[in-house]
Order: sequence, then C-alpha cells, then structure tokens
Amino acid sequence: MGGTFDPIHHGHLVAASEAAALLDLDEVVFVPTGQPYRKDDRRVSEAEHRYLMTVIATASNPSFTVSRVDVDRDGPTYTYDTLVDLDAQRPDDDLFFITGADALAQILSWKDAEKLFDLAHFVGVTRPGHALSDAGLPEDRVTLLNVPAMAISSTDCRQRTRSGQPVWYLVPDGVVQYIGKYDLYKEQ
Ligand code: ATP
Ligand code: MG
Repeated sequence: MGGTFDPIHHGHLVAASEAAALLDLDEVVFVPTGQPYRKDDRRVSEAEHRYLMTVIATASNPSFTVSRVDVDRDGPTYTYDTLVDLDAQRPDDDLFFITGADALAQILSWKDAEKLFDLAHFVGVTRPGHALSDAGLPEDRVTLLNVPAMAISSTDCRQRTRSGQPVWYLVPDGVVQYIGKYDLYKEQ
C-alpha cells in the first residue's frame, strides 16, 4: 500500500486490514512516498518523519511491514518504480497494490500505466466522497473492495492539528504523540 502518509491514519489501516483479510494476503507492505517538494501546493513533511509514523502505526500488527524503497530513491515517486523495486526484492511473491478510490481513478494517467498491471494486481478500496469505478481498467488485474467507510484524510488531520483540534482516535495513539513531539503541521 503506497501513500504519502502525512500522517498515516485509521482509514489507511482499516483499508489495508480489510484488503488483507478479503484477499487472503500474507503481508501488507506500507510504502511511504519519497520526498516531493510540494503536493497539492503544500509542503510535505520530511520522508523520515512519514516513514517513522508509518512504522509506529503498523508495529503491533505482525503482518504489516514498512518499506523504504521510495524513501531511499531520489526524485519523484512513481508507482512503476515502487513495484519494480519490490518485485526485485521479493521475486517469488505475488504483488497486490492497494489503493483508494481517488487514487485508482488516476491510475491510467500514471507513468507506464500499461506496464503497471504486469507487475501487480490492483486493489481499489472504497473511500468516502469518491466513487469506486473500474471504468477503463483491465478487469482481470483489478479488484474492487467495499471496506468500512472511514471519513478520515491526512489533509483533515493536518488542518485539525494546525487549528488546535484533536486527532485522537483518527490516527493511532503513537502517531498523535509523534506529531506533538516534532510539532508537525504547524505551518501550511
Ligand atoms: P492527503 O489528504 O494528504 O492526500 P490521504 O488521506 O489521501 O492524504 P494518502 O497518503 O494520500 O492519504 O493515501 C494513500 C492511499 O490511501 C491512497 O490510495 C488513498 O486513496 C488511500 N486512502 C486514504 N484515506 C483513505 C480512507 N479514509 N479510506 C480508504 N482509503 C484511503
Ligand atoms: Mg491523498
């Protein structure tokens, strides 16, 4: 499961857990993106912070792990490169790329889109506010799943932190404390 994870929240964790259970996956590898200068016109937290929050959030689940492939690669993150690197590290594994309805809708515009489906099976999960549609996606390489609706976004968590509202129970406890410890999300 790839993401910016700035910060990781319970929407990500529920989606991963549901996909793993429904598709009988052995492991979910969370892959925080490398460092974009900006995303949606805002500054993204340092990759190391996003990586560590992802480690904290997933530490208690024996089938959740975190990969540094994107954090350690220079330049913008393309899912194609992520999958090539993971495939090289795990040549015997079948890869499934878990993604939310909003991201799935953009897949066809991603770099090397047609080659993505050779590298992994794509799993699109429901996300409140975004329609889950497989229009234009190869049927045998994409599975759509309904997961319990969690109307949580990282954007909302950042805005809440900035305006002094709590993020308790939207993100794992250790992530609440990590955000406070490093004073993340104070500025736009
Ligand atoms: P931002 O608001 O900064 O874009 P985000 O909440 O969308 O953050 P990302 O790191 O961009 O989080 O998302 C990583 C992946 O998780 C994407 O594929 C996204 O669609 C999916 N995702 C994020 N939030 C949810 C949610 N509440 N339910 C299901 N999927 C989600
Ligand atoms: Mg997003």
